[in-house]
Amino acid sequence: ETFQNLGLNKDLLDAISDLGFETPSEIQQKAIPVLLEEERDLVALAQTGTGKTAAFGFPMLQKIDINSRTTQGLILSPTRELCLQITNELKLYGKYCKGLNVVAIYGGASVTEQAKQIKKGAQIVVATPGRMKDMISRNLVDISKIQYSVLDEADEMLNMGFYEDITDILSHTPADKSTWLFSATMPKEVATIAKKFMYQPLEITV
Ligand code: AMP
Repeated sequence: ETFQNLGLNKDLLDAISDLGFETPSEIQQKAIPVLLEEERDLVALAQTGTGKTAAFGFPMLQKIDINSRTTQGLILSPTRELCLQITNELKLYGKYCKGLNVVAIYGGASVTEQAKQIKKGAQIVVATPGRMKDMISRNLVDISKIQYSVLDEADEMLNMGFYEDITDILSHTPADKSTWLFSATMPKEVATIAKKFMYQPLEITV
């Protein structure tokens, strides 16, 4: 299998080539073509290191409207470190997507500074749940036009007690968006979230 065959555009293929990625990983092979072709929900059982960031990142980068400054993609992740890591990866993957703005929102840093970044217009926001909820309640970020939402390391987020924050955040997003959930394990709580927020998800295990 090759990245060309997955249906990715030239901007992304050029970035992939710069990064030296030769072959799509298993989760990328399974997720990317479907997410590119259909508006549908996804539940993926995948550990870190499987290439899951690119599995949701490439389809999201290809499907959002870069010419618009509206926030269209939202990625929730459990920790500040992961949030920054995903943000950096997406910037690398989208290096040829002209006008792309990816902003990280996380606790323990200046709200004012993060709000300033958001105000410039971010097509993609990568956030930890606590700070995200806080910024929504203060009207510092608008997620009413989100088309793609990712719950990354869903089991970790639930372990850390973010269930309420996640449901609150998702209640501010449109019902017709696609939701892509990634988790290393599938405890009851994750299955409950999937059932509550997703419609006939594609299920992938790697
Ligand atoms: P992740 O599972 O998303 O944390 O990715 C783990 C690491 O693998 C990251 O450093 C990625 O940049 C890298 N990576 C992702 N996809 C590929 C690929 N198809 N080939 C080689 N490296 C990859």
